[in-house]
Parts: sequence; C-alpha cells; structure tokens
Amino acid sequence: MDQTKIDTLRAQTVPAFEHLIDGKHMPASDGRTMDVISPIDGSVLTTTAAGTSADMTAAIASARAAFEDGRWAGQPPAARKAVLMRWADLIERNALELAVLGVRDNGTEISMALKAEPGSAATTIRYYAEALDKIYGEIAPTSADILGMIHKEPVGVVGAIIPWNFPMMIGAWKLGPALAMGNSVVLKPAETASLSLMRMAELALEAGLPPGVLNAVTGEGRVVGETLGLSMEVDVLAFTGSGATGRRLMEYAARSNMKRVYLELGGKSPNIVFADAPNLDEAAKVAAAGIFRNAGQVCVAGSRLLVEASIHDDFVAAVGKATQAMRVGDPLRVDTNIGAVNSETQLKANLGFVDTARSEGGEIVLGGDRIMAETGGYYMAPTIVTGVGRDATLAQKEVFGPILAVTPFETEQEAVSLANSTVYGLAGAAWTANLGRAHRMVKAVRTGVMHINTYGGADGTVPLGGVGQSGNGSDKSLHAIEKYVNLKTAWIKL
Ligand code: NAD
Repeated sequence: MDQTKIDTLRAQTVPAFEHLIDGKHMPASDGRTMDVISPIDGSVLTTTAAGTSADMTAAIASARAAFEDGRWAGQPPAARKAVLMRWADLIERNALELAVLGVRDNGTEISMALKAEPGSAATTIRYYAEALDKIYGEIAPTSADILGMIHKEPVGVVGAIIPWNFPMMIGAWKLGPALAMGNSVVLKPAETASLSLMRMAELALEAGLPPGVLNAVTGEGRVVGETLGLSMEVDVLAFTGSGATGRRLMEYAARSNMKRVYLELGGKSPNIVFADAPNLDEAAKVAAAGIFRNAGQVCVAGSRLLVEASIHDDFVAAVGKATQAMRVGDPLRVDTNIGAVNSETQLKANLGFVDTARSEGGEIVLGGDRIMAETGGYYMAPTIVTGVGRDATLAQKEVFGPILAVTPFETEQEAVSLANSTVYGLAGAAWTANLGRAHRMVKAVRTGVMHINTYGGADGTVPLGGVGQSGNGSDKSLHAIEKYVNLKTAWIKL
C-alpha cells in the first residue's frame, strides 16, 4: 500500500451522490440531501440524496420491470457471467479509490479496508459469476411414466439492506448470488456508510449490467428501508444489521406480502482460551485483533474473552500488551491498526457501555475513554474489562465497539455454559491442544461459525450465518444461492 497515493486520494473532493434508478442518477424527489460526516475528523465530506418513499417505490418499480421483461434473467448464463466478471475486474481496478472513499465515510483502518472491502467484494462477485453456469436443476426418481423435474428459478426482486461496517463486502455477499441467479436488486446502503457501495453499484452499470437490474437508494432506514420492507413487489429481503431492525423487517413482511426475510444480525461471540492452548502468546495477539480491528465494529468480533482461571491474570496481561502494540488513529495511515468509530452516536453508546460495566462491578484494566478528540474525529481507546459476570450487560448485549469483556471459568462444562448464555449465536472460538476437546467445543457451542486455535478469517467458500437471535440464512459459499432461487416442480405424465 502506497501512503502517497492514499494521501492524494484523500485530498480529492467527494462529489455529491444521488440515487441510481433505472440506470440513471436521480436526486431525491423533494430535492433534499443528507450530510455525510467523516468519522476521521467530523467534517462534512459530501451529501447523499435523502431518499423519499416515492424514490424507493420508483426504484422497486424499475427492478420489477427489469425482472419481468427478462433483460437479465433471460440472458444466457455465459453472458451474465461475463458481465459479473467484468464488474469484479472493475472493482479490483478501482480498489484503492473505493477503499479510500469508504474509509473517509466509515473510518475502518485502510490496511483492513483494502482487503475486506473492494478486495473481498471482487472475490465474492467473481465466485458467484464462476458458479452461475454450473448450477443445474434436478430430475426426481419417479416411476417410468412420469418425468419429475426440479427447476431453480430466480425469485424476482430482492431488497438488500446493508449496514455501515463493511458495506462493500456485505453488499457483495447479497448482490453476488442474487444477481448471478438472474434476480433484480434494490440496494439500500446505511446512512453513515453509503458512498463506496453506491460507487460499486455504478461500476456494475459500467460493466454492462442492464439498467434497472440494480437500483440503489440512499436515505433513512425508517423511510426508504420501511418502504422496501413493506413493498408488495419485493420477493426477498436480505438484511445485515441490528436485531431491532431485523424484527421490524419481519413485521413488514407479515404486514405486506409475506416476503422471505433473511437476517444476519449481531453477536456476542465467545473466544474461549484453555490453559492447554498450543501457543498462548499467539492466542493473546489474535484475541486482541479479534475484538479491536475496525474498532470492534465487526459482526463476528470476539467480544467475550472466556479464560481458564489458572491462566487468567497472565493471559489478560498478554492481551493487554498485544493491544497496546496496536496503533489507534487516522484510519488512512497504512500503519494504523484500529481506525475511527463510525459515528458520534456510536462513540457515545460505546462510552455508555463502559460506565455501565463499571457500575456493575467490572474493572477497566485498559482504555475506557474517548481519545484524539482534538481531531474532531470519533476515536476510542481499545478497552478491556475484567470481572464481567455471566449476566452483566457487557456479557449479554452487543456493543459493536472496541470493548472486550473478560470472564474466568474453571471447567470445560462451565466454559460451554458461559459461551451459550446469550441470545446470540454468530461466531466463537476455542483455543486448545486437546483434539477431543476441540471437537467437543465445535459441537457444544451454539454458533454459526466456530474457530479452533484461530479467530476470524473464514473465506468465501464457507457459509456465515447466525443461530438464535443472530439471524437466519447464510451469506457466502454456494449455500447462499438457495436464498435467491425458488424451487419449481414440473410433474410430467409421459
Ligand atoms: P441497523 O439495523 O441500524 O442498520 C442496518 C441497515 O438497516 C441500514 O441500512 C439502515 O438504514 C437500515 N434500517 C434501519 N432502520 C430500518 C427500518 N425501519 N426499515 C428498514 N431498514 C432499516 O444496523 P447498523 O447499526 O447499521 O449495523 C450494526 C449491526 O449490524 C450490529 O448489530 C452488527 O452486529 C450487525 N452486523 C451483522 C453482521 C452479520 O453478518 N451477522 C455483519 C455486520 C453487522
């Protein structure tokens, strides 16, 4: 990564962004815009269209028309594949520009953003492009006078609602399989991180995606998101975000056309360290990175550290040391390990969790405060809290910030019981050299992904989805395709 190139890009003025509807840029129907605040220094970066319900309705109508006339779904698979491959190439070719734009918007450190955002988005789009002409229907084992066929059809119009932490990566997890299978998509980026995703959508048009197949509308969730959720013309909602919004989407579906709703929600993921871990120094470094990268704004962040009591003090000290070696600061510096918190609201919420933890008997052994306030940006010191009880707020509620809750355990049974003591079930890890225990932990901890002797880093070949109140339906891997197809049976009397 070249710091000079990054600095040149960060000095550029960001143009105002408009919706992308029917292949054209469109302002909000009432002309209103929203300021985009950069978490790096609190300055106004640019504006986006403050979408109205009418804007969203127009975008949905465009997507519906594009689906019904078959301009995309009706193309030969090889043609759709070529467009998606070109799109992935364009994302890659513009990777640094996209990454810097995204970082100025959401504050993720550039060292992570470049890989996790354009890098991962291009890989994901390419993965589904490569897959789309290898997906066959089925012939059922019927009696000789019947031909039973199972077709996989696109569902129609997909509404994709995206959060602010990794907009391009998470956007691509929905867009890749949905578009590969011939659907039209209406994209709704998050209020506080829409720019890079809007730019990525523009590149899809440049790559040859027909107008109307991908529409993107910015604005407030409770306005344009609600219209998308309540639409009778949307067949599937694919969502990543908070549990509160997930609940609303289910209500919208129930109140409208009972559309399918796939939810990727939050977590309170346990990182469980046994005394017999193969390399405790490595475990401490990975535990620190597993919670503090992107200032803790990672859905699978290892936010609960469960440590075997016999090594608790030494291990917490090692995590503290590893954390202090991480550089917090300007997310556009290549040597920054922990960038900015996404917004002032989020920063205040994080600090509120620290106060609550203290009042509930937790000990703040590292951090706990806002830092670098003189920059105008939203930075928080990585924070470690020990003595967090099973039912404490910090053990039960997702913070989505740089706060690690530490709880000791005595036995494997107690570790499992603590791990499973929240309503969530997204990710987790266990560190142990005991092979039997490793497999027992994979089975016993209720999560969508369980790491052994590592944390994070699962690539696009494996699914990511939650159990319990962490959601339903997985992104990534070939399994994600199932969310964007209907199975149709043809029962033919011969
Ligand atoms: P959020 O729910 O506030 O917002 C997510 C999206 O929903 C935004 O685009 C927002 O505009 C939209 N929205 C808000 N209200 C809406 C409404 N009434 N109707 C329709 N849409 C609406 O969440 P957030 O704060 O952007 O993201 C953080 C959350 O996302 C955390 O809880 C985090 O754990 C979760 N997350 C989960 C995963 C995962 O894969 N499971 C990944 C990243 C983030």
